[in-house]
Amino acid sequence: MKDSIIHLVRSNIKNLQPYQSARRIGGNGNIWLNANECPIPSLFTANITSFNRYPECQPKSLILSYANYVGLLNDQILVTRGADEGIELLIKAFCNPREDAIIYCPPTYDMYAINAKIANVEIKEIPTFKNTWQIDLENIQHNLNKVKLIYICNPNNPTGNIISKKDIIHLLKITLGFALVVIDEAYIEFSSKDSMVYFLKHYPNLIILRTLSKAFALAGIRCGFTLAHKEIINVLNKVISPYPISTIVTDIAVQSLSTDAIKIMRNRVLTLNLNRNWLINELKKISLVKKIYNSRANYILVKFHMFEKIFQHLWEKGIIVRNQHHKIYLKECLRISIGSYSECSRLIEEIKILSKI
Ligand code: PMP
Repeated sequence: MKDSIIHLVRSNIKNLQPYQSARRIGGNGNIWLNANECPIPSLFTANITSFNRYPECQPKSLILSYANYVGLLNDQILVTRGADEGIELLIKAFCNPREDAIIYCPPTYDMYAINAKIANVEIKEIPTFKNTWQIDLENIQHNLNKVKLIYICNPNNPTGNIISKKDIIHLLKITLGFALVVIDEAYIEFSSKDSMVYFLKHYPNLIILRTLSKAFALAGIRCGFTLAHKEIINVLNKVISPYPISTIVTDIAVQSLSTDAIKIMRNRVLTLNLNRNWLINELKKISLVKKIYNSRANYILVKFHMFEKIFQHLWEKGIIVRNQHHKIYLKECLRISIGSYSECSRLIEEIKILSKI
């Protein structure tokens, strides 16, 4: 077409496959088990009623609340539009297009690679070991040339495992001074003793990503945090947009970090962890299940006989799970977010029906 503007688009964006988020994939469900959201809403009412003023770039009340929650200083925290924005800002601030590289370790969260592609930054893909899903330190060590950022997801999405603390510390030691290790702790509340927060004081090259989207049950408000040495936070503050966090988001997020709300969050985590164990036990009894991977998060990865048929059947019944078959090492695997007890029961009911056909 004569008026097309396609030729104006950057060449690396023209062929970019956008992230296939749960909402983009769609579906017509009433049981949503495909985005690792919390099935139980947290109920808050906004206190603020006027919106004519811009918000602070980094709302002090929210930074303070999160600092109290994680036991860090205010200047070690950046609040972002979800953890996703943290992933993006790090590449923006540290990686020169066509010069620098990032490392990521699939099967894992796709947004590390997608952000690097958008920024025209080289991606070094160093797969984890199959089935243990631990990082391949030797291979990473041999590929550090030009690398500025190494993204590690812990617990890993979609496999659900914890990455060995010893390995992360080793990685921090061998990269000290020339690369940053980013630990994505989006799901860490489900296995809180595995957090690397304590190590921030020992390793200036450690960065941690957090979110209110999972255990805090606030995916809808889009609020995340980057935790790091203040030098790194200062750099990120240079590239963040002027008003990234809306007034309403701050209002709700601060409420969610009160002592009482944190207690409720912790109880929610206990309930979901119990639901996960129940679901695993029930799945173990079903012959269509080939393998269930250990999970320390609010989702499980399951390998099925007839995985496509199961995915489709559940989809038609309004139970939406996530197909992982296309990912490295994950043939025939579906990722199932942990729902409420009744949602988990419905899922088991439907898989049982199929296993009898
Ligand atoms: N990291 C991981 C591992 C995730 O699974 C997600 C959400 N899908 C994110 C980060 C982004 O979370 P947020 O909603 O805070 O942007």
